[in-house]
Parts: sequence; structure tokens; C-alpha cells
Amino acid sequence: MATCASSPFDHPRADVILRSADGVEFRVFKLFLSLASPFFETLFDLPQAPDGATDQEMKDGLAVIAMSEDSKTLDSFLRFCYPSTLADDPSLENLTDVLSVFAAARKYSLDLIEKKVCQALANPKVLEREPIRCFAIARNARLTHETITAAKHTLRQPLIPAQFSEIGLITASELLALLTYHKKCGIAVQPLAKDLKWLTDYYGSYNSCLWLFGPYYNGSCSCGRVTDNRFSPWGMQTVTWWATYMQELCELLVDRPSGDTVRTAAERTIQSVRSTGCAACSGSVKVNMTELSDLLALKVDDAVAAIELEMDF
Ligand SMILES: [Zn+2]
Repeated sequence: MATCASSPFDHPRADVILRSADGVEFRVFKLFLSLASPFFETLFDLPQAPDGATDQEMKDGLAVIAMSEDSKTLDSFLRFCYPSTLADDPSLENLTDVLSVFAAARKYSLDLIEKKVCQALANPKVLEREPIRCFAIARNARLTHETITAAKHTLRQPLIPAQFSEIGLITASELLALLTYHKKCGIAVQPLAKDLKWLTDYYGSYNSCLWLFGPYYNGSCSCGRVTDNRFSPWGMQTVTWWATYMQELCELLVDRPSGDTVRTAAERTIQSVRSTGCAACSGSVKVNMTELSDLLALKVDDAVAAIELEMDF
């Protein structure tokens, strides 16, 4: 038993019925579909056979066209075809919908939908939350730019991803290419920890960043200084918490080589310094560490920008 789709696809003056694979009937206007898609334009332009000489299914005097898409997919792409005054564009934030709508868009030559699907995959909110799912969908749909952008966003997450529902959309070779890219990026950022030139070049002289050296220049700092030279700009030993930040960051960056990792770790350091209550450091740590981590984040992003995702597009 067929059911009727909801508004605006239930219009009494519609001139054709599209029936979804799961039996929902969409009463739509040929004109909107023809304007949006050359496929529909051709379909509706086919000469009508004289009455009785065709096996075209009819209902209430309208032709019924059986579609292979389910009602959810059909609803999404019909909303794209309709003028925005009659139907809101469907939300594509839910990535599971993207692929079926995209396949329908390609099948029916709906260029506009292809563009909107690409936009959905490039939505920063979705990319930041689910980069590997975006990667799998974009790669499966053979979208070059979206695949590369999503791969870049996976660098914010650990090298070995958790299980994700779209893993079956990509091949083992494609997953291997992504992991290799991630690994190479992790290696590319390591020189930034070994050589602090990015820091000494930026500040010019230790006088411009005395906060890095804690009690050496500020007697009221109770944080202590390191005794080794692992992270020593101008060969000078720094306040303990900064060396700890750099040490932890080095380890994190191997797994998550992204500017985002640098900023997130800086936020944690700011909180932890404030909680120690050091009068000299607490007040200025936010300004100083934000400036330094913004700088280092840029350097990290520059270093990974040089690495290519090796994949045939
Ligand atoms: Zn201090």
C-alpha cells in the first residue's frame, strides 16, 4: 500500500508522481524537476503514447514513475530541485545521508546537488568532528579536493583510527595511503622540536620572552627551571612547565601532527600553570602561551602542507 509524501510533495495540482523504492508517492511538478535536471527534462519530454497504447502506470490521471531510491534520499534531492521558497534545502550534516543523495545527484545530473554535497563534506563542524568519515565518503565519491581536505583534518586525530561505519567505502590501499600520509606528517614536524629556530627567530632575543626563563629573571616565580638542555632557546634553560609542554607536545605531534594539537596542549598548560598559583607566571601565561602556540601551530601546519597524500585521483 503506497503512502503519500509530506508537504510540499503532496500538492493536489502536481502533474507527476514519483514512487520511491519503499513505496512512498511524491506528487511533484515536472517543471521544477526539468529546470534542475537535464535527466528529468528528457524524461518528461518523451512523446506520450496515445491512451491505452502504453503500459504506463497511472494514478488520479497522473503518470507514476518508479524510482530506485528510497523515500529519504528522494525527499532530500527533491528538496534541492524545488525553489527554496517552497522547500528548505535538506540538512546534510548527517553524513550517512550524503552518499545516497550524492549517487542520486550524479545519476540525474543534478549539478547543483553535487555542489551542495561537496559543501556538506567541507563543513568545518563536520570535518573537525568526523574527518575520517568525510575522507571515506569523499574518496568513494571521487571528490579530489574534499578527499585531500578531509585527510588533512584526520591529522588532528590519532594515527590509528577507531572503527567507523564508512570504512567499507574505501579500499585497504586507500586506507594505507591515508596512514602513510599521516605517518609522514608526524615525521615532518619533528625538526620543530629539535631545533628551536622558529622561536629564536620570532623573538629575536631572550629579552623579548623573559617569561620563558621563569625564576632566572623573576625572583617571585616559584616554578623552577630545568636542569637539562633539551629545549633551550639560545642555550638557556627554561622554566620547568614550558619544557614539560614541549616534551609532551613532541610525543603528541608524532601521533597527531596538526596545529590544533599545539593549541590544545597549550590550553592544558595554561590551566595547569594557573592552578599552581605562581604569582609571576599565572597572570601572563595565557597571553604568552597563546602567542607562542599560534606561532608553532603555523609552523606545524606549514611542515605538513609539504607532504602529499599519495593517491590516484
Ligand atoms: Zn612561575
